[in-house]
Amino acid sequence: MSLLFSDSHEKSPILHKKYFGDEFKWGVSTSAYQTEGSHLAHGKGLSIWDVFSNKKGNIYKGQKGDMACDFYERFGEDLELMKDLNIPNFRFSLSWPRLIPNGTGAPNEKGIDFYNRLIDKCLELDIEPWVTLYHWDLPNELEKKGGWTNRDIVDWFKEYTDLCVRKFGDRVKHWMVLNEPLVFVGAGYYLGVHAPGKRGLKNFLPAMHHAAICQAEGARLIKHHYPKSEVGTTFSCSHIEAFRPIEKDKLAAQRLDALVNRLFLEPALGMGYPVKDLKFLKKLENYWKPGDENLLKFDFDFIGIQNYTREIIKHSYLIPYVRANIIKAEKRKVPITLMKWEVYPESIFHILKKFDGYADVKKIYVTENGAAFNDILKNGEIDDVKRTNYIRLYLDAILRAKNNGVNVQGYFVWSFTDNFEWAEGFFPRFGLVYIDFKTQQRIVKSSGKWYREFLK
Ligand code: BGC
Repeated sequence: MSLLFSDSHEKSPILHKKYFGDEFKWGVSTSAYQTEGSHLAHGKGLSIWDVFSNKKGNIYKGQKGDMACDFYERFGEDLELMKDLNIPNFRFSLSWPRLIPNGTGAPNEKGIDFYNRLIDKCLELDIEPWVTLYHWDLPNELEKKGGWTNRDIVDWFKEYTDLCVRKFGDRVKHWMVLNEPLVFVGAGYYLGVHAPGKRGLKNFLPAMHHAAICQAEGARLIKHHYPKSEVGTTFSCSHIEAFRPIEKDKLAAQRLDALVNRLFLEPALGMGYPVKDLKFLKKLENYWKPGDENLLKFDFDFIGIQNYTREIIKHSYLIPYVRANIIKAEKRKVPITLMKWEVYPESIFHILKKFDGYADVKKIYVTENGAAFNDILKNGEIDDVKRTNYIRLYLDAILRAKNNGVNVQGYFVWSFTDNFEWAEGFFPRFGLVYIDFKTQQRIVKSSGKWYREFLK
């Protein structure tokens, strides 16, 4: 691990693109709210994040994504830069309130036009667009009606998906339905630390169940319009380990693993929710309708895994429902990123093996991985050797998994540029490209230069 903190690029493991094979997809990931800005431009409706970040106390230093990276105005230059970095695949999300300002009803032609121009520009530059339908920016008008807790969201989401696929499906061949459902449902509808700031099981359970249904229903719709398109969905996953080799901790780790890694995957595979490990899921009966077990199922072409770290778990009576406590990385005195997440490349190896272990998971793409470190701008340059080494170490673990028979076929760095990191505002920088948020100037970091060479 000392490699991570070495200042030398040379000491990194020898890694070559060719080891991953010619078909392996290399790319970068972003999302709409984190980059686009122009939050009121050309008829766009407000999203729950526009509202949440404008409420005092919700975001680090009261920051908000109104302007973000100004990607809405600057996408052309940003894509030229992406091309210059030899990046062939770009994963981004569509903003639901930009396309349908009220969430349901009349679409916004100017919003449609924006994504048409974005997709066309990608194709003109020979960059393959990979589109996420939902990366957390729900139209606020829908939240007023209960948002994800309202069963009607299944119809609203189908209407939105239908529009996206009809408008862009002729050119977009790779789709992801949801970005990390557990995170937007957990942080947004249980802990209240993300938009819309709701709390408690009474919000979490219906939001979770409706998101899981939308995950499959959205995918079905895409396939209905474009049977040959490649359809997946993405999950936040962490390798989970017990703190001590005792039964209590092992069971706590098992419960957390069910919550973090299995909750949204297993119902899609037709295995149902992991109720045996998470007893509180029995309360889902209150939201269940006959036939839901079939609505939850979908045979995805791929699963997107998004892994950054591992978690170490100890039994605790104090934590409701899961009785499991995460022992913070800081306490464990292990190398961490600016997000205080442990740097643990083995995590991605274990996660890949775990997901590949499901017979019905056909193919995996790593749709996000990356790190926030303290980037220092010196003489107009950022030498973020830690980020480069982080990526190399994780890639090394991915390659090992691939050589071990895991069908992993792609890797997308989070993120292309620095952007709005949700409740943490602009503080943690994840980009291969630095952004001066006052001037919107872009500077390619040494990690970006490394990626350019690697992809050559
Ligand atoms: C999310 C991104 C986020 C990143 C780093 C993922 O959970 O999909 O939106 O910025 O991780 O926290």
